[in-house]
Amino acid sequence: MGVIALMRSGRPLVPVLTPCPGHHNHAWRRAEAAGLPHDLSPVWGHPVHCGRCTDRAQAQLAELPELLVVVALEARHGSRPKTTGTVGRTPSHRWPGEASRMLTDHIVGGLLDLEDDLRELRHLRPRNTASAEGQKACRAVQFVTAHLEWALTEHPMANEPHDRLSANPAAQIHSWHTTAMRFTRRDVRLDHPQVPCARCNLLSLYRPDGSDYYECRNVECGLLLTPAEYQAHTQRMTTEHARPVAA
Ligand SMILES: [Zn+2]
Ligand SMILES: [Zn+2]
Repeated sequence: MGVIALMRSGRPLVPVLTPCPGHHNHAWRRAEAAGLPHDLSPVWGHPVHCGRCTDRAQAQLAELPELLVVVALEARHGSRPKTTGTVGRTPSHRWPGEASRMLTDHIVGGLLDLEDDLRELRHLRPRNTASAEGQKACRAVQFVTAHLEWALTEHPMANEPHDRLSANPAAQIHSWHTTAMRFTRRDVRLDHPQVPCARCNLLSLYRPDGSDYYECRNVECGLLLTPAEYQAHTQRMTTEHARPVAA
């Protein structure tokens, strides 16, 4: 980007490094917020989201139309509530296919809201509302994909850290994709190691989706381990476990 382009875009002439708002920086943000000394370093954005988060948002958007079809098939075949979704995530549903219908409404509604939002922010003409749901969803995916770079950089919420309720477009896309993957049972289960935490000794270690660290779910502990530290801890536990008990 040239100097003029930099001035026109309103960005500072000297690029300022900002940490990517993606979930993988969650451990760093938490450590910073606690104000305690730490040796974590964030992944920087280019200029807001890092390349990994941008690529992921693009890939997840591309998969949404097919996922929506699979979710809709669930409604047509009307699985019993027991077999719908994943254990513990789906409460009882009043009629067959209701879970599928609700999820479709949630994802398509969210996509259309994001398209409307981007059209308004970028001063483009309003979306054509007179078409079938599938068509509207596919057009919204195409539109958001075409404006994704802007959405992940210039959108007013583009800097908001990703979490379940974040209005950051990348976090929303991730949330729709993850929910649809879970519903269709295509998700890779979260990495829940069966090794007790190195600090609080509970079976509470897990590795959040896309995170570079293992975290302890115990709020009073909150231990963070790099994959190398986790590996060393596992080996130590295995060695201790294998040691013969003294007679
Ligand atoms: Zn990132
Ligand atoms: Zn712990």
